[in-house]
Amino acid sequence: MQINSCTRLCCLIGHPVKHSVSPQMHNAAFKELGLNCIYLVFDVLEEMLREAVDGLRSLRILGFNVTIPHKIRIIKFLDELDNSAKLVKAVNTVVQRNGELIGYNTDLYGIEQVLREVDELNCGLGLIIGAGGAGRASAIALTNLGFSEIIIANRTFKRASNLAKQIRELGFSAKPILLTDLSRYASSANLIINATPLGMAPNLISETPLKRDHIKRGSVVLDLVYNPLRTKLLIEAEKAGAYTISGLKVLVAQGARSFKLWTGIDPPIGTMYSAALKALRGEKT
Ligand code: NAP
Repeated sequence: MQINSCTRLCCLIGHPVKHSVSPQMHNAAFKELGLNCIYLVFDVLEEMLREAVDGLRSLRILGFNVTIPHKIRIIKFLDELDNSAKLVKAVNTVVQRNGELIGYNTDLYGIEQVLREVDELNCGLGLIIGAGGAGRASAIALTNLGFSEIIIANRTFKRASNLAKQIRELGFSAKPILLTDLSRYASSANLIINATPLGMAPNLISETPLKRDHIKRGSVVLDLVYNPLRTKLLIEAEKAGAYTISGLKVLVAQGARSFKLWTGIDPPIGTMYSAALKALRGEKT
C-alpha cells in the first residue's frame, strides 16, 4: 500500500484500544481491493471525546468506528443518527458526508446477518444474556428475525427491564430476568446469545454464564466474546449438542457493514475474517 497525498483515513476511537484487531481486518480489505485508504487506532480518553470528534469532522475523515467507553456518549456530538443507532441507542460506526457526521449501529446488522445464515435457527424463544450495547443490538436483531418470545437476563435488573419494555413497545413479547435466574429459563431457549464479557480473556476467561446441563440439544448458542475464539460457554454448548457461533463472525460482519458504509464497496469477507483471525492468534498478516 502506497500512502500519498490522496490517502483517505478511517479509524477506531476508544479506550483502551490496543488489543483491537480492526486495523488488520480493514487494512487487509483495503489492500486486496487496491483502495487508497488506511485504518488507524486512536486511544481517546473520555474527557477528550468532544475534541476528538470535532477534529475528525474537520479533517473530513472517511469514517470511523467507536468502541467502549464512547458508544453512547458520542451520540450528542454527532449531526445525525441512522435508524439502527436510534433503535439500539448506541453508535459503533460514523460516516462523514459533506462535513456532517452520521452515526450507525452495525453490531445490529452483524448479529442479524450471522443468525440469518444459520439453517438450524428456530425463531421461538430467544435468550439474551446482558443488557448493555451488545445486548440491546441482540434484542433488536431478534425482533427483526421475528422471535416469538425474548428473555433478557442481566446482573442489573433495571437495565434488563428497560430493554424488555422497549422490545414490548415494538410489539414483541419480552421478559426481563436476573442473571441469577438464568438456568431456570435457559433449557427451553432455541437461541442463547452471550452479550456480557463473561468468558473473555484475560480476567474472565474461566467464566461461563451457563453450563451444559442448562443448554438444549439442537439449540443455537452465539457468544459475542471472540477472544478466546472457543469460549467456555461455546465448549459447554458443544458438549450439550448445540450449534455454536463465535463472536468473531459478528465482528467481521459488523466490520464489513462499516466498510460498505464508508466506501460504498462490498469488502472481501473471507480476507477480513482471516486477517482478524491471524491478528487474534498473534500471527503477522
Ligand atoms: P456494555 O455496554 O458495557 O455492557 C456490558 C454488559 O455485560 C452489561 O449487561 C453488564 O451488566 C454485563 N456485565 C459486565 N460485567 C459482568 C460480569 N462480571 N458479570 C455479569 N455481567 C456482566 O458492553 P457491550 O458493548 O454490550 O459488550 C458486551 C460484550 O460483547 C463484550 O465482551 C464485547 O467485547 C462483546 N461484543 C462483541 C461484539 C462482536 O462483534 N463480536 C460486538 C459488540 C460487543 P450490568 O448492566 O449489570 O453492568
